[in-house]
Amino acid sequence: MNLHSLTIKELRRKLAAKEISSKDIVSDLLARIAAVDPQIHGYLRVNAEDALAQAAQADLDKPLGGIPIAIKDNIAVSGEGCTCASKILENYVSPFDATVIRKLKDAGAVLLGRANMDEFAMGSSTENSAFGRAHNPWNLACIPGGSSGGSAAVVAADEAIAALGTDTGGSIRQPAALCGCVGLKPTYGRVSRYGAVAFASSLDQIGPFTKTVEDAALLMNVISGYDALENTSRPVPVPDFTASLSAGVKGLRVGIPREYFIAGTDPEVQAAVRQAIDWYADHGAEIIDVSLPNTEHAISVYYIVATAEASANLARFDGVRYGRRSPDGTDSINTYSKTREQGFGSEVKRRVILGTYVLSSGYYDAYYNRAQKVRQLLRRDFTEAFKQCDVILTPTSPTAAFKAGEKSDPLSMYLADIFTIAVNLAEVCGISIPCGFTASNLPIGLQLIGSHFDEARLLAAAHAYEQGHSWHTMKPQV
Ligand code: GLN
Repeated sequence: MNLHSLTIKELRRKLAAKEISSKDIVSDLLARIAAVDPQIHGYLRVNAEDALAQAAQADLDKPLGGIPIAIKDNIAVSGEGCTCASKILENYVSPFDATVIRKLKDAGAVLLGRANMDEFAMGSSTENSAFGRAHNPWNLACIPGGSSGGSAAVVAADEAIAALGTDTGGSIRQPAALCGCVGLKPTYGRVSRYGAVAFASSLDQIGPFTKTVEDAALLMNVISGYDALENTSRPVPVPDFTASLSAGVKGLRVGIPREYFIAGTDPEVQAAVRQAIDWYADHGAEIIDVSLPNTEHAISVYYIVATAEASANLARFDGVRYGRRSPDGTDSINTYSKTREQGFGSEVKRRVILGTYVLSSGYYDAYYNRAQKVRQLLRRDFTEAFKQCDVILTPTSPTAAFKAGEKSDPLSMYLADIFTIAVNLAEVCGISIPCGFTASNLPIGLQLIGSHFDEARLLAAAHAYEQGHSWHTMKPQV
């Protein structure tokens, strides 16, 4: 039976009716992975035997009982590697579970394997993986997006029922858009970051990749909530995200920010997103023109704040405590620098150097402090906009998937996140859902943005659109 293409919801029904076992699902996925992952390279490691053992023991009465899930390789699972797709952590083994992993285990999920990514989550194409790039299931010559490109690709190619990723500037939503699946970045503080390897701590969030919006709600029910181990997680009540999914869009105020409908966005993407706006209008939503006037500064602010935080966070990888140590060092300082020189890829080095520069005395005020001030303005833009509307609608990415190797200068890669980055800076939530295809059969993503801790309304708005279309049922021919 083809189980790999089903959703969490559909599999849960079959499991409950005892038509299938969790082992059936895992076996079917393992066969699927063996057949297609050599082309996709969405996985860095698959826990075949262990996943079958977990399936045999899975408590099917739990909310995700028996459901196999892929985990981005920057989230700690006790006893497993956590490479962040970096040579520096190639042989590192996590001694503990991230909070989201403990929650998945408590909910009965089966951890299937570890998804490919850009090194330390820095990138938008998964070409920065030290272990080989991942491929887009819709066109193997194209990138799957990034940095959680592996997570998106394995869900889109039916190699996992769902996956977790992380999003610092778009790394869940952009690859979800480019691979044609659903990806949600929760509000900053909604999901504990404990055990996610920090890239930019004031921006990072863990979130789900799924085949449907309803599945995203199911996963959010499990992974959300305050965590005493993580001091930026917030003690905000967690609603049942599935309960309000059918709220519909009548009377929903949908904000269209004029700064997101700009020249430079691919006309096919623009057209698909415009059709989505029409759909909301036709179904009783109120379409409201809004402005996010500081949008033009988002990328610059992000590449100051994120690199500053990355340079501090990555200082711990010096060969002493974690992972690889260069054998060529002549003394301790030289060992640190050799370890980092040999262990980090070029994009990671670029970020560390940039971040160190913007934090250095003399430049701190000119760059870092100013960026923090503009970040406040960006945050205020969203607060003001959400006085006029309930959700904000934009394209997720200015283009569909591009060819591997096409964006060779860093700046053009950075611009791939132009529509997702401000959401992280403002700490609000955002989801990408499929909204069409280009003439060359590549998926297009629609981004809906919600106010702080308003994921329930965001999911309902996304669910309504999804149910009115069949995009989410389309499958790539791998
Ligand atoms: N592409 C952005 C970057 O390279 C965002 C990455 C992310 O969200 N982890 O930093």
